[in-house]
Amino acid sequence: LKGLMMEAPLSLIDVLDYGARIHRKAEIVSVTVEGGLHRQSYARTLERVARLAHGLVALGVKPGDRVATLAWNGYRHLELYYAIAGIGAVCHTINPRLPADQMAYIVNHADDSLLFFDTTFAPLVSGLRDQFPEHTRYVAMTDRAHMPDGQDLLCYEDLLDGRPDHYDWPELDENTACALCYTSGTTGAPKGALYSHRSCLLQAMFTMVCASGSFPVGDRVLPVVPMFHVNAWGLPYMAPLAGASLIMPGPALDGDSLFRLMDEESVDSAWGVPTVWLGLLAEMKRHGRKPGALKRVSIGGSAAPRSMVRAFEQDYQVDVMQGWGMTEMNPTGTMSTLTEGQAELPLEERIELKTTQGRQLFGVRMKLVDEDGNEVPQDGEAVGELLVKGPTVIRAYFNNDEASAKAFDKDGWFATGDMAKLTPDGVLYIVDRAKDLIKSGGEWISSIDLENLAAAHPDVQECAVIGVPHPKWDERPLLIVVPHADAARDKQALLDHMAGSIAKWQLPDDVIYVDELPHTATGKVSKRHLREDYMDYLGN
Ligand code: ADP
Repeated sequence: LKGLMMEAPLSLIDVLDYGARIHRKAEIVSVTVEGGLHRQSYARTLERVARLAHGLVALGVKPGDRVATLAWNGYRHLELYYAIAGIGAVCHTINPRLPADQMAYIVNHADDSLLFFDTTFAPLVSGLRDQFPEHTRYVAMTDRAHMPDGQDLLCYEDLLDGRPDHYDWPELDENTACALCYTSGTTGAPKGALYSHRSCLLQAMFTMVCASGSFPVGDRVLPVVPMFHVNAWGLPYMAPLAGASLIMPGPALDGDSLFRLMDEESVDSAWGVPTVWLGLLAEMKRHGRKPGALKRVSIGGSAAPRSMVRAFEQDYQVDVMQGWGMTEMNPTGTMSTLTEGQAELPLEERIELKTTQGRQLFGVRMKLVDEDGNEVPQDGEAVGELLVKGPTVIRAYFNNDEASAKAFDKDGWFATGDMAKLTPDGVLYIVDRAKDLIKSGGEWISSIDLENLAAAHPDVQECAVIGVPHPKWDERPLLIVVPHADAARDKQALLDHMAGSIAKWQLPDDVIYVDELPHTATGKVSKRHLREDYMDYLGN
């Protein structure tokens, strides 16, 4: 028996329309590439989105076409999100930090008909144009006065000029594709996750429900997490729903710029990967205070070190929410927001809870399996590979049967490649990425556990643990450390500090000091590069 409710499709343009009508005071503040700040309301954004949609159609964009963006977090990028999706086309966000060969691969694989770019990326675009499809056209996201040099470039503001500020948005099936994001190719060629209106809207709502209290009306939210990767964790959809303002940092992502922007714009909450928060914390230390209004920081994309959680919570009374997820999950699967009574727990216990990956989001089913695919118990002890299922998880990769065939079990569960523990009440502990686990003499060592211990030492600014081949033990852990400026480079002191908390055989075989760690296009430490660099270190 079917329910007798209207089958009105979930649609992203309705999100912006809602924000525009209901939350009239909220604004989008953007650090611009041209210089200075730009401010506009959701109502004004909706008008400009309508004009842009007319412009896109005039350029021949049809439903299902892929339209690429190569851009920072800013109002024009947000307008593109909504206008492209609104006309039934697909916004393909490109990560500008991808290596050139991968960028050429994805633009060709997506077969983008248009490519919108921030003028920062004009040299990148002109350098790669001959490797992109011949029919792709290019739009510089600026006004006439700031157009970069280049052949046949279209101008964003010209595209909007003189167009009507109303659009008769088509009623789309809610499963219509709206956005395309490629994984960053840490495991082979990039693979495309093709999101739908339904998956994006559900994901935004699931996150808002589970991160309850994190989106009060009037909040000022700063997404450091880039709009060029997994839709900035859905913040561009959550903010208009919640009545939150978006403070967009543009290209200014260093600690100093972020601190100033947060301070001046009274940012309440900020979202990003751990590397970004290292920069901000250093700046907070320099000022001896946090940015004025900062109350909440969301950390995701890789494990939030315990020392980082502690610094925010203990030193600055900033509430940390750790999130875990992946491109294929639109992206969030867990958040470490507290349940009833936990906010009153002693600080140490709260820090421990927030060092986990957090509680399962409503809508994301999880199971753990062993090497043979048999389920292992969710008792907080047993470790297995984490599989997920739900309306915000991909069911195939975009035009990639080969990768799709490998990614799912026979019942359609998606294999995350993460080794994890789950408690009966749905708290997730990521032990490690399967490929980062260190196999030593038949036992497993978690690189995340060792990093947590090392990062807690006051001399350590950033660190990574990798497994390198060893003639006797198969693999042994190696600790690579970026020390704080002026800190001692005392290997033994660091190992002694770690030795108290783990079995002796788990201690790294050596500590290597470096000035910088390599990062992936999404800002995570690139262990693949480190493994390549130190492959022969232990004399295999
Ligand atoms: P890529 O970097 O390849 O594009 P994603 O951005 O989708 O991939 O990263 C997903 C992976 O990042 C997860 O499978 C997990 O290994 C890791 N990850 C994300 N968030 C966390 C977290 N809070 N703690 C530990 N690992 C995390």
